Amino acid sequence: MKTNTNYRNLQEQYLFKNISDRAEAYLAQHPDQRLLRMGVGDVTRPLPSAICEAMHRAVEELSHAETFRGYGPEEGYLWLRQTIIDNDYAPRNIDLTTDEVFISEGAGSDLGNLSELFAKDNHVAIIEPTYPAYADASIMAGREITFLPCHAENGFVPDLPKRRADIIYLCFPNNPTGTVLTRDELAKWVNYARENRSIIIYDAAYESFITQPNIPHSIYEIEGAKEVAIEVKSYSKSAGFTGVRCGYTVVPKQTGLQPMWLRRQCTKYNGTSYIAQQAALATYTPEGHAGIRANIDFYLTTAHLIKDRLQHMGYEVYGGENAPYIWCRAPHGWNSWTFFDHLLNDCQILCTPGVGFGASGEGFVRFSAFSNRQDCEEALKRIQTLA
Ligand SMILES: *Cc1c(COP(=O)(O)O)cnc(C)c1O
Repeated sequence: MKTNTNYRNLQEQYLFKNISDRAEAYLAQHPDQRLLRMGVGDVTRPLPSAICEAMHRAVEELSHAETFRGYGPEEGYLWLRQTIIDNDYAPRNIDLTTDEVFISEGAGSDLGNLSELFAKDNHVAIIEPTYPAYADASIMAGREITFLPCHAENGFVPDLPKRRADIIYLCFPNNPTGTVLTRDELAKWVNYARENRSIIIYDAAYESFITQPNIPHSIYEIEGAKEVAIEVKSYSKSAGFTGVRCGYTVVPKQTGLQPMWLRRQCTKYNGTSYIAQQAALATYTPEGHAGIRANIDFYLTTAHLIKDRLQHMGYEVYGGENAPYIWCRAPHGWNSWTFFDHLLNDCQILCTPGVGFGASGEGFVRFSAFSNRQDCEEALKRIQTLA
């Protein structure tokens, strides 16, 4: 047996370990202190009751012989795929057929698994700072990667790669910077992909946090994108499904990849849980929609609060308008970890050091709006004292 030696090329996942080590060390020294967690990348508000009721009903159905269900279709139930098209795409004049929508157990697995559709010698371009899944999957597959830096100087809009890229990972609204692309900026990427016969894997996990008009909600709002883009969506952040597990991936037939992805899913994935799919369906009912919207609006209000108050204190901040993340430059020319340590030791606040998401993140930290309002208010008061 020979192992996949590409795994040796993966970076240690030191970021979150390093954060928790420092937090534990601080608490060991100061056992009476409580840390305010302002860096969390996971939702914290409970599921709306309409969604829980849908899951209860699904469980009830599974408990009776007449309504029991076993395996569903590998691509997901037709009722969910049709509802996704009717609600997420048709109102934006995007034409998709149900066989182009694949229900998943969340975006994370598909973002990695899609990598299987492409030859090993493809060159990959990934925006940076970044969520680690795109790079890790490419490294496991042994592919070469070019990182596309996003920083204040280019307005967090990545430049087109100098070396031709076959596979391009974009994520907007972005984790960790909270920034978005305009229609024109995204069109530049679609045109690049069409000219270069590249494929764009578009992570739209934070789509429902978009508040500004004229920001594209789907890459398919751009003309020609159906030829060159796969869109990956998730109910994790929009509906609080990080524990429920459900998402979907759109693979348009015009990419030429739809039959391959169908085959891949039929062979290696036996479908998303019926209960999770009923929960996803419930996010589109009036009550379910109102419930998830209330949670998103709560997080967005928190994000706006953090952004406004930090700006008021003189901090240079980005994001927070169309995303639950605020990207904040460290003061006094500090690097990410120095600012992290000051926030921890002087304010008892935990954030996420920007450099953990890639080299361009150095000198920044990420604050998250996935916290309760009281902790957030308290954290902002303490930051005010950090002169
Ligand atoms: C949270 C998140 C996802 C969602 O992952 P799931 O597997 O659906 O929970 C995808 N992309 C980014 C950038 C995220 O931050």
